[in-house]
Amino acid sequence: MRAANETQRINIFQLVKQINIVEIINRYNIVELKKRGRRWAARCPIHDDHSPSFVVFPNGTWKCFGCGEHGDGVDLVAKIFNLELIEAARMIARDFGIEVNKPLSSASRRKIMQQAKKREKERILCERLDKAYETLSLLVRTINYSLAAGGYQAHCDLAGLLHKVDYYEYLVECLLSSNAEIQMMALNSFNREF
Ligand SMILES: [Zn+2]
Repeated sequence: MRAANETQRINIFQLVKQINIVEIINRYNIVELKKRGRRWAARCPIHDDHSPSFVVFPNGTWKCFGCGEHGDGVDLVAKIFNLELIEAARMIARDFGIEVNKPLSSASRRKIMQQAKKREKERILCERLDKAYETLSLLVRTINYSLAAGGYQAHCDLAGLLHKVDYYEYLVECLLSSNAEIQMMALNSFNREF
């Protein structure tokens, strides 16, 4: 009995993980998100936040840089509505029309495992895209700063630097594209360069 419950429990979390965290936040009116590059930001719904310290990442997790709380969609719903994790997962599953009480056939179990694998791959890709975006944005800011300060003269030629910053800005735009092919092209260029 215990093993069966455990299996069902795991499946609820796997099922709920497939739901986009932004949809969860919007559905329960937890907070009003604003798009910031590849992320979303808002004033933290957990602590008394005067600036938008609450960040939702493309990999489906969130973190508040004010109070330090972090987690995934289930963790957030559990915190906001003061629920156990399993209760939060059940509520989300119910509200998003996912059947959790029905015993799963081996076919749908396979499908869930495949989807979980696919999401894991997507999560890894998201992290790589995010890292490339962070690195390039920082480089663009640094180069622009040193150009403005005139500090470039000692190190390298101005034309080369301008070319680089243009190229990096272009890659940043591509990383933010909604077209997956353009994103991959930019990610590959980034990996070749760094
Ligand atoms: Zn907070």
